[in-house]
Amino acid sequence: MQPVKLFGLLLIFSVGCSAPNEGGADDQEVASSSTIVTETHVFEELADGVYFATSTGIVNIASNALVVVNDEDVLVVDSHITADAARELLKSIAVLTPKPVKYLVNTHFHFDHAHGNQVFPADATIIGHRYTRQKLMEDPLSGATYQVIGSPAAQSVLLSSLGESIEASDDSEARAALEQQKAALERHIIALEEVIPTPPTLTFEDRMSVRSGDREIQLLHLGRGHTAGDVVVYLPAERVMFTGDLLYPGAPYLGDGFADEFPDTLERVKALEVDYIAGGHGALMRDKLVIERSQAYLRMYWNQVEKSHATGLTVSEAVESMDFSGYEDFAVFQLGSQDVLKLEVGRMYERLDELASN
Ligand SMILES: [Zn+2]
Repeated sequence: MQPVKLFGLLLIFSVGCSAPNEGGADDQEVASSSTIVTETHVFEELADGVYFATSTGIVNIASNALVVVNDEDVLVVDSHITADAARELLKSIAVLTPKPVKYLVNTHFHFDHAHGNQVFPADATIIGHRYTRQKLMEDPLSGATYQVIGSPAAQSVLLSSLGESIEASDDSEARAALEQQKAALERHIIALEEVIPTPPTLTFEDRMSVRSGDREIQLLHLGRGHTAGDVVVYLPAERVMFTGDLLYPGAPYLGDGFADEFPDTLERVKALEVDYIAGGHGALMRDKLVIERSQAYLRMYWNQVEKSHATGLTVSEAVESMDFSGYEDFAVFQLGSQDVLKLEVGRMYERLDELASN
């Protein structure tokens, strides 16, 4: 039931924010921000022209985006989960500004961040880590992460359980929220049919900067973590970063990850000076304590899996023996799915085998 309540809150929040904050005397706590709401998106302005884009719930965007409006052009970070969701993002950006979208940055290759790439303007440059291009050039639709979590088959299972929740619900408000989720999910499943994975055309290894007008936008690969090609988008003057799935308010998914190197990568993220941390999922973050929680979680997880591996447990046995005490509110995605846990522990076993053979 908790997701239902959260969804309800999200809608209330969106409606509450639909009147932009017009600098009243008691607005000083709200920092620089105004919030603009379209039918599909909520844009929180974190610094002049820098917007954190989240969903109103009408369409399944699956991941957050960052929109940077420069003097002459626009840079977008992450393209959502389908062409349908990305089209809605571009339509909503047109409400913010008439300037053309010239750059799209992919924080990593995962479907929920990169499968909207195909609808960006033909003259826009898609930028990503070399590894992100490699993964999107291969057949990402056949990868285990997509098959188990993102595929039409996996989403249809979700749709059935949503239908059952609607049947079982006797609260009209909760039922209405579930009906809206169901409509968004049905639309999403249809939208999956048209996805053509589209790789970045401009790649880098460690770092690059995009300069537009007075603005400097740094693209930083700070080490392996969630994938082998994670990129943090950092605006030093505006003191804002977008962390993709390296960091959000919850446990990172590790099915394609490097859990052993991840805490050190986060240490380098922690060193960046910011006022706002925008993650690939969930709400805006301001407090770096979330980085330490992620690091502690990763070490706890890796240490347990390392022991299971050393004592010869199978992946399934290792999943059974995991103890997530103290992280029940953090590892919600993991604890909700044995399949996700198996992908993660399986990947850590693969990594431990690699380390042992070196
Ligand atoms: Zn991801």
